[in-house]
Amino acid sequence: MKRHPLLMVILLALIGFGLCAALSRGLYLEENKSITAEFRADVTQLEIAFEREVRLNLEILFALKTSASLMPEMNATLFEKLTLPVLERSPAIKAFTWAPVVRQEDRAGFEQRQQSWYPGFVLSEMSATADAMPVEELPWLVPVQFIQPIADNRQAVGFDVSSEAKRRVALLAARETGEMVATAAIKLVQEPGNEKGLLVIAPLYSGVADTTPEDRAVRHYGFMNGVFRISELIKQSIPMAIGSKILVQLVDRTDGAEDVIYSIGRPSDERWLRSLIHEVPLAPIAGRNWVLQAMPGATFVSARRSYLPLLVIGFGFSFIALLVFFAVRSLRQNAELNKTKRELETISLTDALTGLANRRHFDAYLEQEWSRALRQSQPISMVMLDIDYFKAFNDAYGHPRGDQCLKQVARALEQVMRRPTDLAARYGGEEFALVLPDTQDAATVAEACRVAIQALGIVHEFSGVAPVITISVGVCSLVPTRKMSPAVLIQQADDALYDAKEAGRNQVLKADQALPEH
Ligand code: GH3
Ligand code: MG
Ligand code: MG
Repeated sequence: MKRHPLLMVILLALIGFGLCAALSRGLYLEENKSITAEFRADVTQLEIAFEREVRLNLEILFALKTSASLMPEMNATLFEKLTLPVLERSPAIKAFTWAPVVRQEDRAGFEQRQQSWYPGFVLSEMSATADAMPVEELPWLVPVQFIQPIADNRQAVGFDVSSEAKRRVALLAARETGEMVATAAIKLVQEPGNEKGLLVIAPLYSGVADTTPEDRAVRHYGFMNGVFRISELIKQSIPMAIGSKILVQLVDRTDGAEDVIYSIGRPSDERWLRSLIHEVPLAPIAGRNWVLQAMPGATFVSARRSYLPLLVIGFGFSFIALLVFFAVRSLRQNAELNKTKRELETISLTDALTGLANRRHFDAYLEQEWSRALRQSQPISMVMLDIDYFKAFNDAYGHPRGDQCLKQVARALEQVMRRPTDLAARYGGEEFALVLPDTQDAATVAEACRVAIQALGIVHEFSGVAPVITISVGVCSLVPTRKMSPAVLIQQADDALYDAKEAGRNQVLKADQALPEH
């Protein structure tokens, strides 16, 4: 990892981005859940309100039918007195009708009798459409005898309720069960528009009907029906303004049907979120299985959404990006610094420990002064110095003391050299070299060095030659020729140094002047 810090940064950044995205998504999903829950609770509230409204209106019909069945005989005035006050108070009820069972053979007689109540009374059937039933199919008909409010519903008077399929199914079911039965949503006879209504049929029996279907068939003499406006039932219970936020639909699923009876909000709009569709079934109402179906619009969801997930991802990503930026920048700076450091080291001319010229500097300087001496045919000298028994010194007194000693030796060498062109260098571990341009006899300088270092008085109990630090010195002076190279000078001085060591150390020896031909 240490070798790939950039990879490490990228990896950490990716993990950071991933965590950030996961956190944001988690928050988003959590929000989705709570919005969905809120939506469903809203829909349930709507369903409760609607169902209560429908039941209330059905109860009115039930109460009326119960009181009507107690009356010995129904007539137009009685029917009006019974129903009108109720109708005035119930906007969702469009009409109440009284429809007796009339045998086919009584048809003409019935028609005639009715004309005394309603001049011009005629029996009418469903106009010949697909839903019209052949009149002959039942031995009896169910004509509307009384209807209130008469002003709006005159058209319906005399209409044979059994002449239309949906109504007839409901009539038969009611007659047989004794229960109130609602038709599927129907277009009302007396209504010109598209408004759908719900016809609820309540069977009437003479006396107290037994619980068997046979007994009920015998005692059954007619129906009291209520015509309900579905739109009004909805308006009375659900605020219409909701249609701008939620699409609410009332679906009739009785007997496997899928009939959308009413919609609040335009179903054709694109903005409804089908994925969040929620349905709450109503308890069966007069035999109908209704479902309140709802889906929210995009605004319902967006209004409830917070900015938190976006903030998390926005701030998180920016923060990580910023960190990456700084990390990469500092990595790059580090790399540059390291490079510069290395470059500096290589171009440095000084030995770090002693502050003398280093080996590189020494080589370059020797090369330069060698050339000069060659051009000018002047002598050049080289002095090689090596501390005696220095290993033993290090071993006895430790490396830090050894280093300290090397520094002191270096200072002493600097002080001995007077000329600005003289160069003292650290040649190797405890070896030093002097380049003395334009110097014929370097032995004097070498001897001065030896004396100066011994005079430092650095105690060395384990030296084989003196109680203090001493040096052995090899000297070589020559006038360069084209055939020679600076290596000769070094070699000669080094050989002399070796001889000095051999000769007992703590002394200066000059190289043999009889130079080998190079
Ligand atoms: P001789 O008299 O033959 O020169 O013996 P010597 O022990 O001086 O020679 P040798 O070459 O065996 O040992 C040189 C020692 O110098 C080895 C090492 O411990 C020490 N030395 C070399 N460079 C450094 C340095 O930078 N610091 C310190 N403290 N010691 C060094
Ligand atoms: Mg040595
Ligand atoms: Mg030595």
